[in-house]
Formats: sequence, structure tokens, C-alpha cells
Amino acid sequence: MSKTQYDVLIIGAGPVGCVAALAMKQIGLSTAVLEVQPQQSKISDGRTLALSWNSYLILDELNAWLTDEERFPIRSIQISDRGHFGQSVVSGPDVQLSELGYVVRFKDLLPRLREALSQQKVKTLFQTSATSIQKHKDYSEITLDMNGVISTVTARLIVMADGGQSLNIAGLKHKKAIDHGHDAIVGIITSDSTPRDIAYERFTSTGPIALLPRGDEYAFVWSVPRHESDDLLNQPESQFLEAFQNAFGDRCGRFTSIREKSTYSLATRIAEQPSNGGIVVIGNASQALHPIAAQGLNLGFRDAWDLADVCRDIKAEDLITDNTVRTFRRKRRWDRLQTTLFSAGLNRFFSSKLLGARGLGLLGLDLIPLAKKIIIRQLIFGPKL
Ligand SMILES: Cc1cc2nc3c(=O)[nH]c(=O)nc-3n(C[C@H](O)[C@H](O)[C@H](O)COP(=O)(O)OP(=O)(O)OC[C@H]3O[C@@H](n4cnc5c(N)ncnc54)[C@H](O)[C@@H]3O)c2cc1C
Repeated sequence: MSKTQYDVLIIGAGPVGCVAALAMKQIGLSTAVLEVQPQQSKISDGRTLALSWNSYLILDELNAWLTDEERFPIRSIQISDRGHFGQSVVSGPDVQLSELGYVVRFKDLLPRLREALSQQKVKTLFQTSATSIQKHKDYSEITLDMNGVISTVTARLIVMADGGQSLNIAGLKHKKAIDHGHDAIVGIITSDSTPRDIAYERFTSTGPIALLPRGDEYAFVWSVPRHESDDLLNQPESQFLEAFQNAFGDRCGRFTSIREKSTYSLATRIAEQPSNGGIVVIGNASQALHPIAAQGLNLGFRDAWDLADVCRDIKAEDLITDNTVRTFRRKRRWDRLQTTLFSAGLNRFFSSKLLGARGLGLLGLDLIPLAKKIIIRQLIFGPKL
């Protein structure tokens, strides 16, 4: 059994765990990260993400931003309801920004963040899972399983960034879990019109479609009832393109090719928060949201950033105290609540049968610039700016 002492131990080197580790390192805390997956240079995950301007600022500050070839700007977002009146357009200038955010692929982002961990000399143990936590007065002891070899490390603050997969080792569980009965089909699609820097959020009778510009192609996220997703996924190209065209309409011209289709099951899961000191929960481990509003990772990055901000003002030996955990939870309460309610509310609103109200809602948003500005700033920056 080997023992090592860290100020902070992060469980999970997903995007949120990586950002938390880089931010902790930047404020001078000794930090280690555990990741059950092997270290891979290629990640097969097919999802594409819309990252907000605030997420860009965080990654840039941590020297972990992507290259020009890996990110594509979003300068406006068009929100519309297929077959119904009313649409809303949100543009950078509405909120005094030149870009609202960027389109990036998960398989570019995660290796970049893990590379930054290595460049910035953050101790990262791959193929290592945390299997139990034992709390003592001044530290916690974490049992590790590294390919069958068992050891322990000690740390003052444990950060659960495990996507919610192993909350039980922290004595926590999900207090709310909603299965939406939908899957997201994702992939890359081209059309005969040239994509610009506009992202489209289109609500259809089966579920929302997001079309994200990526150079001369689009990435899409299409939410469909689960019983239809296997059929759609396995359809030949021409049949899938026709189904997609029928669902989306012709706002972006005729769709001409499709590749890299895959599916994700959609659920909302909210975790219990620890009430005592020594453990905090961030990112999807704390709240996994419906991707309709493209908020999950943006919110997770703000969790990680604010955690480092709280820890900056605390003496290392006090990281384990109840006060640290309470201060962090207080700081994150409103952003988490508002963003979770917004994602859930948007999903419910556009699943509603009140089609007229849906159109009026979009029209109203466009007619009241101040309301639009407040909502968009909240989604980009969280409530504090
Ligand atoms: C189709 C789709 C589209 C999306 N689009 C967007 C979008 O446009 N914008 C946006 O902001 N968000 C979006 N999201 C949400 C976003 O993908 C997630 O919020 C984000 O990936 C969560 O990151 P995380 O680091 O918290 O968790 P995860 O990515 O789940 O990482 C957790 C890590 O912890 C590791 N782990 C688990 N247990 C242990 C253990 N015991 N020991 C060691 N390691 C462990 C896992 O292997 C994993 O690497 C989308 C999601 C989906 C499904």
C-alpha cells in the first residue's frame, strides 16, 4: 500500500474533471486526477458540442483552447418551430459579443484537455478507478484499483467529476432521474447550401434538431422517440437523408450526405449534494441535463471554475472543512438551478401540444429585446455577470 498526500483529488478525467484539475493547478494546489479509461490519443465519441463564449474564456485562460481547424464560430442562433409561425434570432451583437460561442467535437476537446494536463504536469493516473473513500478528521483516504493493483492515496478535498457513474463511493445517489424516452442521433451532414456561422435549433413534431455549422458541413443532434432511433440509425444514406429533410425542412437547402451517425440515450439526472466537508460534486456528476439547450458542459465548466475560485481564498488545510463545501454550494446554487430549469422548461415547452403558444413564445422573445438579452447572457455566463 502506497500513500500520497494531495490537496485535491479529482475523480474522472472527462472534460469537467480536466478543467477542474487545470484550474486547481493554476491556483497552486497539489492536484491529482484518476481516470478509469486508458489514455487514448483517439476518442471515438461522436458528439459535437456548442461551447459558449464563457467556456472559451475559461479554456483560453487555462491554455487549453483548440486550434483553428478544431473550432468553428457561432455568430447567431435561429430558433424556430417546424410548420408553425414565430421564430427568434439571437446574434452576438444582442449581447455585445462578436461570437456567441464555438462548435467543437468531443473527440478533439477531450484529448486537448488531457494533453494540457500532461503539459502542465498535473499528476494523472489512467486505467485507475476510485473504488471507495474513507473519511478521517483532516484528510480522506481513497482506495484505487489500477488494473487489479490496489493502493490508496490521501487528499484534503475530493472532487467527484465522474459523470455520476460512481456517486455511491461518496455515499451519494441521484435524487432525481428522468428518462425522456428519447434518443439523440448525432452525426455530420452536408447540404447544397454553404453553412455560415449560424446555428439552428428547430423544434419538430418528433423532437428538436440542432444543426451546428462546421466549415462546409453541419453537425446535427436530432432527438427522436427511442422506438424510432434504431430504425433511423440503420437506414441507408438516401432514406435517412429524406427522413432528416422531412423533419428539418429546407431552411438549409437540400441535404446531400451523412456520416458518423451514432446515438445517445437522453436522461436528466440530478445528484444529492454532500452536506459535510471534504467532497464536492461537479459537472454531469452533479447534474446531467437534456442537451436541448446545449448547456450541460458549459454549466460543468462553470462549476469547475467557481470551485477553484472558492479554493483560491482558503488555506490548504481548511479545504476539508464543511465551510468550503457550503461556500461552493452557495456560490453555484443559482446558476445550477436556473440552467437546469431552463433546459427542462425548454424541453417541456416545445413538447407541449399548445402550438400557438409555442409560436407566440418565440415571437415574444424576438419582440422583447431586453428579455432576450437577459436570457442569452444567463446562458452564456451564468447569473453573475
Ligand atoms: C448528444 C449530446 C449533445 C450534447 N451537446 C452539448 C452541447 O452542445 N453543449 C454542452 O454544453 N453540453 C452538451 N452535452 C452535455 C455534455 O456532453 C456533458 O455535460 C459533458 O460531457 C459532461 O462532462 P463530465 O466531465 O462532467 O462527465 P463525463 O464526460 O461523463 O466524464 C466522467 C469521467 O469520469 C470517469 N470515471 C467515472 N467513474 C470513475 C471512477 N470511479 N474512477 C475514475 N474515473 C471515473 C469516466 O470514465 C469519465 O471519463 C451534450 C450531451 C449529449 C449526450
